[in-house]
Amino acid sequence: MIIMDKETRFENYKLLEKDFSVEYDKPLLQFTTWRLGGNAEAFVIVKTSEQFIALFTLIDQLNLDYFILGGGSNLLISDTGIKKLVIKNEVSDIVFGDVVKVSSEKNIGENVLRTEEHWKAGFLTFSDLDYDDFSDTKTRVIIYSGTILQKAINITLENKLSGLQWFSGIPGTIGGAIYNNIHGGSKHFSENVEWVEVLKNGKVVRLSVDELKFGYDYSLLHKEKLAVLSVGLLLNHFDPEKAKKTAIEWTKRKVIQPRNSCGSVFKNLTQEQADSAGLKNLSVGFLIDTVLNMKGYKLNGVQVYESHANFIVNNGNGKAQDVFDLVKLIKQRAKDELGIDLVEEFVYIGFQDA
Ligand SMILES: Cc1cc2nc3c(=O)[nH]c(=O)nc-3n(C[C@H](O)[C@H](O)[C@H](O)COP(=O)(O)OP(=O)(O)OC[C@H]3O[C@@H](n4cnc5c(N)ncnc54)[C@H](O)[C@@H]3O)c2cc1C
Repeated sequence: MIIMDKETRFENYKLLEKDFSVEYDKPLLQFTTWRLGGNAEAFVIVKTSEQFIALFTLIDQLNLDYFILGGGSNLLISDTGIKKLVIKNEVSDIVFGDVVKVSSEKNIGENVLRTEEHWKAGFLTFSDLDYDDFSDTKTRVIIYSGTILQKAINITLENKLSGLQWFSGIPGTIGGAIYNNIHGGSKHFSENVEWVEVLKNGKVVRLSVDELKFGYDYSLLHKEKLAVLSVGLLLNHFDPEKAKKTAIEWTKRKVIQPRNSCGSVFKNLTQEQADSAGLKNLSVGFLIDTVLNMKGYKLNGVQVYESHANFIVNNGNGKAQDVFDLVKLIKQRAKDELGIDLVEEFVYIGFQDA
């Protein structure tokens, strides 16, 4: 991507106006769960896959820098905003495909990403809801990236397909779920993924699950700037009633998590980090609470959440800079006092030095 001066960027935005409704200096905080951050220099909403493809073809021709906004539930946008084109992705559709028989005895990528200690260190206990969800016949389902995750979960469950129940209660879109390979209990979203279609150099390209390099809170999209159009999932024909009950119970437990946040701020510790600091478990919430004594710590309008220290909440008058400074302070203390480098789960956008 070429770095363009402001005048050239605006000339290019003007060219988009022929086919798209471009808004300028658009406030973004209403599109984020943290309700923080400044404005988008230019802003477009896409609602159909045709618009999505046409927009990214133009972006490629013009060499424009852009940012894709899903549900805004894993984002910290700077108070000075985003000096590029922000695309609000609302391309939402679910298409049921053929039934396939698989030769493997496991779901794709099953159990390879997080250890049991890791997921048990989470905020809520889900161990009692965990079970193997597998069938060797599966239904292929194509879901477009702007679809709200909860809608995808509800509709696939209504169609007696399981695999997504573990992510019930997580906000955001399918695009965001792919970007960070969301996790629920012991499961990762990637376990259901067959392929992902992305826009690359103005063309729709299908990437296999292996090419996406999924990991714990990681996918290839962290490294390569790609726009996800859709995902092909292989969902199970395994005890749909149990899957439905699991989704309902999961959602009930998750509603106590604060919505005025980005979810967990930091990734839980690796076993090596915990061992080197002499900590008994991998929970970052435990570390911030009992070792750093920062539960409830306030910085201007934001605060380490009173009920779990791996959340930062906006008390209503917070600024993105407050979150930025509080995260920096927690990281500095973890480094100085324990020698641990904490890693953020959320994405920074519009900051110079994040
Ligand atoms: C209360 C609460 C609970 C949460 N619980 C969990 C949890 O249990 N597990 C978990 O893993 N996460 C959790 N999260 C974090 C968050 O919900 C997930 O990461 C979610 O998948 C983000 O999706 P989004 O659409 O909101 O993405 P956004 O926040 O809008 O964007 C996040 C990143 O994804 C990129 N992106 C979005 N769409 C596309 C696309 N189409 N193509 C390319 N890139 C794209 C964006 O550019 C950005 O870099 C929680 C958050 C909250 C607020």
